[in-house]
Amino acid sequence: MRSTFDLVVLGCGGGPSEYNLSGYLLKSCDTTWSQGIIALEAGSGIGALQHILRTTPSIFSATFPTAAESHPPPTAADIYSWIQCYLITHAHLDHVNSLVLSAGSQGASRREVFGLLPTLKDLQMVFSDRLWPNLASWDENDSSAALLYSTLQVDGRYKAISPHISVRTFSVSHGGHKAPYDSATFFIKHNTSGREFLFFGDVEPDSVASHPRNLEVWRAVAPKIPIVLSSIFIECSWPTGRADDMLYGHLSPEHLRDELVNLATEVMKVRRQQVTEAASSSASSDKPIRKRLKISPPSPGSLEGALKGLRVYIIHCKDDLRSTYSEPINQVIAGQVRALTDELSLGAEIISVEQGMHITI
Ligand SMILES: [Zn+2]
Ligand SMILES: [Zn+2]
Repeated sequence: MRSTFDLVVLGCGGGPSEYNLSGYLLKSCDTTWSQGIIALEAGSGIGALQHILRTTPSIFSATFPTAAESHPPPTAADIYSWIQCYLITHAHLDHVNSLVLSAGSQGASRREVFGLLPTLKDLQMVFSDRLWPNLASWDENDSSAALLYSTLQVDGRYKAISPHISVRTFSVSHGGHKAPYDSATFFIKHNTSGREFLFFGDVEPDSVASHPRNLEVWRAVAPKIPIVLSSIFIECSWPTGRADDMLYGHLSPEHLRDELVNLATEVMKVRRQQVTEAASSSASSDKPIRKRLKISPPSPGSLEGALKGLRVYIIHCKDDLRSTYSEPINQVIAGQVRALTDELSLGAEIISVEQGMHITI
């Protein structure tokens, strides 16, 4: 299958290192980077980009469709100037740091900042002329503002955020001391092909949340797996064995396994339903139903192979400053998730995301 999206990882850590925070540059494969980039999260930004270009100068040239644009390779300033909009899951500093720091130096073009209303209101507290100059506006007619707040609704619809890409937003729980704190999950859709991927901001397990909302997301994803949607980016901040009262609104490998089991259960429900519907609608057909559907009816209770064809990208692993692991923490955590999901033969491929990776979806 042809690739649909290009994504470059400016940062994928969960802190505290300011050098590797959530930040991804995204475009559709049928356009060039210079035609417009969506900044998906904005933790690490121009500094990380400069570093990545020093070690991999051709990371953006390689995907230019025309040779003319690939010489000379674009600079960090070029690439940053091609950002058209920001898509932000929540306003914690590790997800908005570069958006704030670069807002005053982005040049003439105004950028939209897409997020849930509470997220944008939190950002407004930063752009208060106290923590930072007020460079953002709610007024579409305010052309002097560097940033324009643009609210995403949780209404089941896809909203166009660029000429080729639209987004459906879910609100999910991310801890919170007194009141639940909202983060977002995005279904990111390529308009012409209809293909999608799923991107979670920080999220806590349904089994721990006071307002569990992940199951709603899994129910929406299940019918799309693996043809329409074959990639999920999801956090796993902590390594295995972390106590529930120390999660602080995040996932650990055991909880991510449980969430993926919930997804697999929903996928199996959808497949059983498809078999039943096909059986009732074509009782007169000569061809065996299973053969025409190219799926085998799952045996009750089994989740084996339910997530076959799905890639699960592990992000937002928190640095352990006193780590005793011999491998980097993101690889340790991805390995732990892999071992837990392999035990159940769910069939998903578990991938450790690295800073500077170019991922095609
Ligand atoms: Zn975070
Ligand atoms: Zn957070």
